[in-house]
Amino acid sequence: MSTATPAPRTFVDPTMLVDDACAAALQASARLALLAPARRADLLDAIAAALDAAGPDLVPIAMAESRLTQVRLTGEVGRASGQLRLMANVIRQGAYLGVTIDEADANLTPPRPDLRRMMIPLGPVAVFAASNFPFAFSVLGNDTAAALAAGCPVVAKPNPGHPRLSQAVIAVAQGALAQANAPKGMLTLIDSSLQAGIDLVRDDRIEAVGFTGSQRGGLALAKIAADRPRPIPFFGELGSINPIVVTAEALVARRSSIVEGFIGSFTLGAGQFCTKPGLLIAPVDSELREALRTGLAQAPDQAMLTDNIRDAFHHGLSLVADTAVVTPIHVGHHVPETNTVTPSLYAVSATDIVQHPHLLDECFGPTALLVEYAGEDDLRVLLEALPGVLAAGVQAQGDESMLPVVLSELTARAGRVIFNEWPTGVAVTWAMQHGGPFPAATRPESTSVGAYAIDRFMRAVTWQSIPDALLPQPLQHANPLQVPRRVNGVQH
Ligand code: NAP
Repeated sequence: MSTATPAPRTFVDPTMLVDDACAAALQASARLALLAPARRADLLDAIAAALDAAGPDLVPIAMAESRLTQVRLTGEVGRASGQLRLMANVIRQGAYLGVTIDEADANLTPPRPDLRRMMIPLGPVAVFAASNFPFAFSVLGNDTAAALAAGCPVVAKPNPGHPRLSQAVIAVAQGALAQANAPKGMLTLIDSSLQAGIDLVRDDRIEAVGFTGSQRGGLALAKIAADRPRPIPFFGELGSINPIVVTAEALVARRSSIVEGFIGSFTLGAGQFCTKPGLLIAPVDSELREALRTGLAQAPDQAMLTDNIRDAFHHGLSLVADTAVVTPIHVGHHVPETNTVTPSLYAVSATDIVQHPHLLDECFGPTALLVEYAGEDDLRVLLEALPGVLAAGVQAQGDESMLPVVLSELTARAGRVIFNEWPTGVAVTWAMQHGGPFPAATRPESTSVGAYAIDRFMRAVTWQSIPDALLPQPLQHANPLQVPRRVNGVQH
C-alpha cells in the first residue's frame, strides 16, 4: 500500500472578462429565476458539498495568500458551506417569497380586485469579496449564497488579497453546478483589479451589488452604482467600531473577566474583524487601566492579512496616537523580521471623544480605545454621538437603573445588541442581523448574514386579476408548492 501524499489538486482558472461574465449572467438570469426553489436549493447543497470536499486542497492556497492559520481557514470552509446550506433551507421553506393574497371581493366599497404579491429575483448581482474572510465573505460567501438562493446569477469580483483562492473556489463551485446541469453562467468570476470592479458596477446588465469591505471602498462603488444612467441598489456591509459599555457595578464585580474578554475580542484575528469591539466605554478607573496594560504586556505578535492592510492600520493608528486628547495605555509595535504587529490600546475621555469624531472611525487591526466616562450624563452624551454600528453591547449586572436607557441608545444605532458577551463571532442563523445604520452599512434595513440576507436581491410584484393558470405557482389557488401564505390578512 502506497503511503505517498496525494498531489494537491490543480484548478483551472475560470476568470472571465467583465463583458463576457455579464453576458453569461444575463443569459442565465431567466432560466435561474424559473427554477423551482427546491431545485435551486439542491444546487446550493451541491456547491456546499463540493466546497467541503475540496477544503483540504483549498486551505493551503488560502494559507499562502492570507497569512491566516490552517485551523481558522478550515473552520471558515465549514462556515461558508453552512451558509450555502442555510440558504438552501430558507428557500425550501418558501416564506422568503412573502406570498400575500387578497382575494377579489365585490362587496367591499370600493370593490377589491384579486391581488397577489410575491418577491421575484432582481437579476444579475455583482458580489465584491472582502480580504479578511477568504471563504465566508468572499466570492462564494454569504452574498453569493443569498443571491443564488434568490434566483440571481452572480458575477464575483475577487479581493486582490486572495486571487488564486478565489479562482480555485469558483472552479469548484462551477464544477458542481455543471455536474448538476445548472444554468450556464449563473456563477462567474472576473479579475481582481480595481478597474474590473468599477466596470462591473457600471455594466447595465448588473441589477444590484453586494459589497463587503471598507467604508472608503464601499462609498466609492456605491457612488458609481448611484451615478449610472440606471441606478441600482448597492448593499455595502462596511466597517464598524462596535462599542461595549461597562457599568460601574459590572466593573466592581468582574473587572478581570471584562479585561480578559475585551482583550481577547479586540485582538482576535489581529483585530481584523468587522465586529471587533473598537471602543470599551467604562467608568474612570485607574485599576481598569492598569489591568488592561498588564493584560496587553504579553500579547503575541500577529500577522496582518496584507501589506496594504498593515499600512492602513499604521496610518489609522497614527491618527489616533497623534490626537492630543488621547493617552497611550499600551503601545504595540511592528516587527519587521516577521512582518507582524502587536496590539495597541489608547484612552480618551467621553467628553473629548465627542469633540474629536475622527476617533469614532474604524481602525482595522489590533487596536481599540478605552473611553472613560465620569457619570451617567457623560455617558449619555457619548452614546448620542455614536455612529451606526454592526454590533454594540453592555457588560452589566442586570439591575442597574441606567440599563434601559443604555440599551435603547445602543439599539438606535446597532444591528445587534449584546448583553455580557463580546461582538466577535457572527452566527450564521435565521435570526442573525449583520448590518446597521450608516456607516456600518449603506442600507440600514439589510443584513448580509443569516436567513434575511436573501431579501436584498429580490423585489416585490403584485399580480392583479391574473388568471390562475398564468400565475407563478406560489400564487396559484391550489398552492402546489405548499409555501406559507397570508390570505385575506390571515397567515396560513
Ligand atoms: P476593501 O479594501 O474595501 O476591499 C473590498 C473590495 O472593494 C475589493 O475588491 C477592492 O478591490 C474593492 N475596492 C476598494 N476600494 C475601491 C474603489 N475605490 N473602487 C473600486 N473598488 C474598490 O476592504 P478590505 O480591506 O478587503 O476588507 C476590510 C474591511 O472590510 C474592513 O473595514 C472591515 O471592517 C470590512 N468588513 C466588513 C464586513 C461586514 O460584514 N460588514 C465583513 C468583513 C470585513 P481593490 O483592492 O482592487 O481596490
